Amino acid sequence: MTKILTNDQVDGWVAALRSANRKFGYTCGAFDLLHAGHVDYLARSRGRCDALLVAVNSDWSIRQYKDPHRPICSELERMSVVAALESVDAVTILNDLRPLAQIQRWKPDFYIKGGDYSTRQLHSADAVMAYGGQVVTIPVSHQVSTSQIVERILAVERLAPPSPPNDAPAKGIVFLDRDGTLLKDSPYLSDPREAELLPGVGEGLAELQRAGYRLVIVTNQQGIGLGYFSTREFIAVNAALFRLLTPFGVTISRIYYCPHSAADACDCRKPAPGLLLRAMREFGMEAQRCFMVGDRDVDAIAGRSAGCSQVLVGAGGLATFAEAAAWILRSP
Ligand SMILES: [Mg+2]
Repeated sequence: MTKILTNDQVDGWVAALRSANRKFGYTCGAFDLLHAGHVDYLARSRGRCDALLVAVNSDWSIRQYKDPHRPICSELERMSVVAALESVDAVTILNDLRPLAQIQRWKPDFYIKGGDYSTRQLHSADAVMAYGGQVVTIPVSHQVSTSQIVERILAVERLAPPSPPNDAPAKGIVFLDRDGTLLKDSPYLSDPREAELLPGVGEGLAELQRAGYRLVIVTNQQGIGLGYFSTREFIAVNAALFRLLTPFGVTISRIYYCPHSAADACDCRKPAPGLLLRAMREFGMEAQRCFMVGDRDVDAIAGRSAGCSQVLVGAGGLATFAEAAAWILRSP
């Protein structure tokens, strides 16, 4: 029988426990990248009760209190991972900023939280005590968090040398805007099925790669900052782009993206040159050997501000990407 229950199914699960005179505990959390701290915490929570119900924060609720890049794993993935643990008896979704409504609905015998919250700080403690429940805090024993794991991964990624498509030293970098330059422009593109290569892109990129240029995407993705789509959806579109480029033998060396909204006043959103400057620093490449290809003025300005040559395609520039590639290959 599945341990993953809808909120309504939990009503029946609770009623069955009550009639069997068994006491259950309730805890909630994001459980984004399940780690040893979570496993230990849930095992010890289960040790305090006869059955343990875990409410997993919905994707929406996590975006409200963490950064817009989270969660990394979807709510369905996170629920299925938590449900696989021996210590967990039932899993449901928490599509709310606070667990109060669920606590009042199910009245768990034990409301369990990690030890970094004192009972006093818990917004729901009064409600639990009001119906005669007990608030239990489990001291945190593993000094690890999902955020720390993400930081470790990023550190490893930063230290890894960029892998060139061939062994020869790169002739330069061609920076590429993604939407409207490589892929057909579609507002806030987040569905990989909508990724469509523009005419001449595969051929043009292959020519540039053959001539020894590294291909690096620099893209504004304010849809992430605005909460229109997640980093995961952004990555899925990139994966679709890579698949579309496979027949041309093209390798994109790296993707730099700005997740901020225009209101964030960051230094990476084009027309700011932040993404290009960072890429040149990380690839050890001087601006004189770099080009920026885009479809908007902001791309040209970012390229110019970074000291690169620029060329536009589309309405305000050359007709196809292949022409832009030919222009770069003719450059001295
Ligand atoms: Mg564009």
